[in-house]
Amino acid sequence: MAKKLYERPIIRPLTSGLMNKFGSRSEYLPVTHIDGASVKDMLKEFGSPLFVFSERQVRENMRNAKRAFETRYPKVQFAWSYKTNYLNAICNIFHQEGSWAEVVSRFEYDKAILNGVPGDKILFNGPDKTDDDLRTAIKNNSPIHIDHLDELYRLTEQATEMKVKPRVAIRINMDTGIYPLWDRFGFNYENGQAWDALNKIMASGKLNLVGLHAHIGTYMISTNAYYVAATKLADLAINLKQKHDTTIQYIDMGGGFASQNTLKGSYLKGADMVPSVNEYAEAICTGLINAGFKSNELPTLILEPGRVLIDDAGFLLGTVIANKRLSDGRKATILDFGVNILFTSFWYDHKISPAQEFGMHTEDTILYGPLCMNIDVIRENVALPPLNAGDNLVVHHVGAYDITQSMQFISLRPAVVIVDSMSKAHLIKRKETLQDIQHNEAMPEFLRSFKLS
Ligand SMILES: *Cc1c(COP(=O)(O)O)cnc(C)c1O
Repeated sequence: MAKKLYERPIIRPLTSGLMNKFGSRSEYLPVTHIDGASVKDMLKEFGSPLFVFSERQVRENMRNAKRAFETRYPKVQFAWSYKTNYLNAICNIFHQEGSWAEVVSRFEYDKAILNGVPGDKILFNGPDKTDDDLRTAIKNNSPIHIDHLDELYRLTEQATEMKVKPRVAIRINMDTGIYPLWDRFGFNYENGQAWDALNKIMASGKLNLVGLHAHIGTYMISTNAYYVAATKLADLAINLKQKHDTTIQYIDMGGGFASQNTLKGSYLKGADMVPSVNEYAEAICTGLINAGFKSNELPTLILEPGRVLIDDAGFLLGTVIANKRLSDGRKATILDFGVNILFTSFWYDHKISPAQEFGMHTEDTILYGPLCMNIDVIRENVALPPLNAGDNLVVHHVGAYDITQSMQFISLRPAVVIVDSMSKAHLIKRKETLQDIQHNEAMPEFLRSFKLS
């Protein structure tokens, strides 16, 4: 047997940018512009960090969703979920595109009124409606979506006093095959609570039952759950007709469609895993159309999707403050935005792109925010090219919930702009100031003065 030739071992560092299991480095292509507006120019003009919305993307998402449902079902109405993003400029784009408003508190209700949404086009959801909230909604003829029996009784009382028959729907929760069950809102389908509430409404004769509502969860990746929910709501509607000779006007399927963000711990990227809006539409519309309605009695289908319509239209721009090495040698980069304005970083691995050209090397990096808090981690581990202090970054898909759930904590919240179809950035919320925060504080006389010696 011939002796094998000795070859000395070579150790060579892997230059990343090579293929990994998801493909090439394309995730890290620099993003220098958003809809034609320069990232660096916007940061110069409005300060860093900065939220940026794409008008084009919002309208495109809304039109795609409308098309998906309207091509499959004859009567469709969208209602914009205010809590997902209630910046007035964003709400108004949805209203311009024909969406009603879907609100879950008096604060959101009043916001919709101030935006000019007619009362009868504001769907009032949520478990917390005071008598005054109910009376206001009754006066404005807003559909009130009842969450629990106590609300049903109080509403009946207010309606009796006001001598009007308010338009109501009840919220239904049910087993859609997704666990844990979302059963804290509304009346349960399987255990008879839903029928109990419907029978009570019909027996009292004091409320005008116009709809049935469900919102089965959020970031739902099963379209079949929507098929099941649509079938169960349709079953209630058809039986209402038989039992009480009542034809409801609408079935509201809520929201919860997943956006393309990647959940933490997910093996696949969101974009490769979540169903398209067409697939949600197919499940829901198939469920309703095959449920057995007479074709002239098909209820209007109302939809309240939030995150799927706005997430990818929002970006967060920021700046590198510094780099450092942790005690174990890992690279850490400190950014000028933290989890207080990027709340969704607790459950998503956000895609992050440098905003300037860079070489082909990358290094695993932990991204910290600027807060003096251990939990302020934007990404636990992301392969990024070396970034220097002053370099800029773009975080993708932050349009849903980050603004509405942002916290004023340690630092002030940033400005928000929207880029229009001519690539011009318009301010839609100015940067918070110290005066904004102090505005609501009060100083009792006895605490006014002190002497430090
Ligand atoms: C939050 C909410 C929505 C929107 O949910 P998404 O997950 O953002 O689509 C719709 N309807 C109701 C009742 C809600 O509470």
